Formats: sequence, structure tokens, C-alpha cells
Amino acid sequence: MSISRDDVLRWMELFAAAVAEHRAELVALDTAIGDGDHGTNMDRGMRKALERLGASEQADAGAALKTVAMALISSVGGAAGPLYGTLFLQMGSALAGNPEIELADYAQAWRKGLEGVQARGKAQPGDKTMVDALIPGVEALERASDLSDGLRAAAQAAETGMKATIPLVARKGRASYLGERSRDHQDPGATSTYYLFEAAAAALAG
Ligand code: ADP
Ligand code: MG
Repeated sequence: MSISRDDVLRWMELFAAAVAEHRAELVALDTAIGDGDHGTNMDRGMRKALERLGASEQADAGAALKTVAMALISSVGGAAGPLYGTLFLQMGSALAGNPEIELADYAQAWRKGLEGVQARGKAQPGDKTMVDALIPGVEALERASDLSDGLRAAAQAAETGMKATIPLVARKGRASYLGERSRDHQDPGATSTYYLFEAAAAALAG
């Protein structure tokens, strides 16, 4: 089994749909420990991304992910837009020109994406950010021996990572301004990252 350009397009459609469906939840999470715009930011960005994907032929999966990245970077203010933009840009670069993406290629692309997010945002594990869902998801994919089972495991691991942000005190982003008061809230960015893995798993469920 391998991942095609159309699988990636379906993944992005499912992610956009999940963000739209959970927009109010993401807003509520960000209202508690930030400025309340994470749901609207991501919804606006992913709508723009789908618009651009539909506007021109995408050469391959890598090109499609780069298109999504540019849409997010140019249309989303705030921290998460450029961070997701970096994730998709690095993934897109890793996959460019590859018409049949195997599990190992895909896991490596996620690893590059994670590295990009950390290079840009400087978040470490436990800082209560999207990185806390990304790391366990990427590690689960790297351990996997089957693409669709691996993506299921990655989504579960990302969900566990997301929930594990609840007791943490934020050390990066707006939530860090709250110090101790950021404790006992789930991180909005880790939540949208969990939806990103869920969408990837659903896109390949066959
Ligand atoms: P803003 O914080 O600018 O309003 P959003 O509300 O869209 O942007 O996104 C907030 C999310 O961004 C946080 O929940 C966190 O997961 C993520 N985030 C913020 N800063 C960083 C960072 N330096 N590294 C990784 N993720 C970050
Ligand atoms: Mg915000």
C-alpha cells in the first residue's frame, strides 16, 4: 500500500472538515488559555487551502502539501498558521516528486515536518503545544509496519499526547503568559494536531 496524490487531497479535505466541525471547541480551548482564535484561524486557513488546491492541478502529493502550506502561511495570523505551514512545507519537500509514497517515506516526511515545527517554534516536549501531540504521533508511525494500522496507532498516540497536555503548565506561545493558570486546560494546538492525524488515518482507511 502506498499514498497517492489523491489520498493527500482527501486527507486535506477531511482535515478541513474536522476543523470546521470542531471550530467552536477549538475556540473554547483557546479562549481558556489564549485569545480564542485557534478555531477561526485554522478554519479560515484550511478553507483557503482547499480553494487553492482546487484552483490548479497539483503535480503530486508533495506539491499539494506545499500549496496547503503557502495558503496557511499567507492567510493565518497567529502562531499556529505559520507552524502548520512549516509542517506541511517540510512534509511537501520530503515527498516532492514521489508518486508512490511508502510507509517509510511518509514517516520520514512527518519527522521532517516535526523538526520544522520545532526549529521554528522552539517548543520542547512538555511545553504544552502542538508538539506534544505531534511527537507521539510521529513516533508511532516510525514504529509501524503497516501504513493504515500505523496511522491508526499514530492517531491514538496523538490523542493520548493531546490529553496529556491538560495538567501541563505552558512554556511556549500565548498560554505561557498565564503561567500556573494555564494548568488543567487542554492545549488547542495539540487538539487540532490530533484531528490532523485522525484525518490522515481516515483518508487511508480504504
Ligand atoms: P495564537 O497563539 O497566536 O493566537 P493560535 O491560537 O492559532 O495562535 O494557536 C495556538 C496554538 O499554537 C497553541 O495551542 C500551541 O499548540 C501552538 N503554539 C503556540 N506557540 C507555539 C510554539 N512556539 N511551538 C509550537 N506550538 C506553538
Ligand atoms: Mg490564539
